[in-house]
Amino acid sequence: MKPEELVRAEVLALKAYPVPPAEGMVKLDAMENPYPLPEGLRRELAQALAQVELNRYPEPTARKLRELLARKMSVPRGMELILGNGSDELLQIVTMALAKPGATMMYPAPTFVMYSMYSAFTGMKAVAVPLRDDFSLDIDAFLARMKVEQPALVFIAYPNNPTGVLYSEADVVRIIEAASGVVVVDEAYHAFAGKTFMGRLADFPTLVVMRTVSKLGLAGIRLGYLAARPEWTEQFNKVRSPYNLNVLTQAAALFLLERLDVLEDQAARIRAERESLGKALGGLPGVKVFPSVPDADRTDAALRRQGVLVKNLNGPVMKNCLRITVGTPDENRILLNAMREAL
Ligand code: PMP
Repeated sequence: MKPEELVRAEVLALKAYPVPPAEGMVKLDAMENPYPLPEGLRRELAQALAQVELNRYPEPTARKLRELLARKMSVPRGMELILGNGSDELLQIVTMALAKPGATMMYPAPTFVMYSMYSAFTGMKAVAVPLRDDFSLDIDAFLARMKVEQPALVFIAYPNNPTGVLYSEADVVRIIEAASGVVVVDEAYHAFAGKTFMGRLADFPTLVVMRTVSKLGLAGIRLGYLAARPEWTEQFNKVRSPYNLNVLTQAAALFLLERLDVLEDQAARIRAERESLGKALGGLPGVKVFPSVPDADRTDAALRRQGVLVKNLNGPVMKNCLRITVGTPDENRILLNAMREAL
């Protein structure tokens, strides 16, 4: 039999998450921290990793790492953590756990594409409520639709990817209060927004707060964490693969989270660069930060020819939009020069 005859229609209809080749490019397309770890720290990390027993399975719930994360990330007392191979895996776990036949998930859109991908994998119905033209949240439309759909699951990226907008806390609270299902506040970009619902977990019985260390400078180790009441983590844990967090990831995270200040300093540098890069980009002809460039496809192609990779979001909803990750000062200079050429 051919794959077309055997594979589920929802899967056949999907395209795999696109990752363009990046060798030799100035890589500003994937929202990564552009700074490597300092040399001395890398050597110490190598020593720590050399002690890891690769012949043994990992500690199944990564207890030590959960305890350290709970302390470092101010997880409120009484809440539990579950860790994932990136927050991608946690999104998948939550979706799998809640995907009863006929169940619905909702999210404002455009947003992180994996929400809709996981709905397709699990057979959950996905209802995307469009953002307004300025990418702000249409809270009345969202609440009205929630009333009709009664979603088992709501995803709110806080702040949102790829628009960069941080919805008002009051609007998110209205969504949580209106929800009869689980509301996941996805704080992947927490280090760049400074706002969080972590401290409010006790206020709302169906609130789940999700984070990742990816944007903080550790995208390569694949570590996400989810904080919620124990009655939720108990269920999510049943869906998690037994040894989902490998020993090297656990050891690297244990080592690096004790030195969190290094990563937080890097995030502060990125935030400062974001200011100056935003101003410089806004000064280019026809470019508005955030909304648009005159012709995103042409600009994207011209940037690639000059060795700069950004994320081209051009389409019916995000017309002429490019999502540009903030790089190092040198990378940002290369980008600006390439943009001047491209336009
Ligand atoms: N949520 C959001 C909003 C994201 O933008 C991303 C990464 N692009 C993720 C989750 C997943 O991050 P990771 O799997 O690297 O933890």
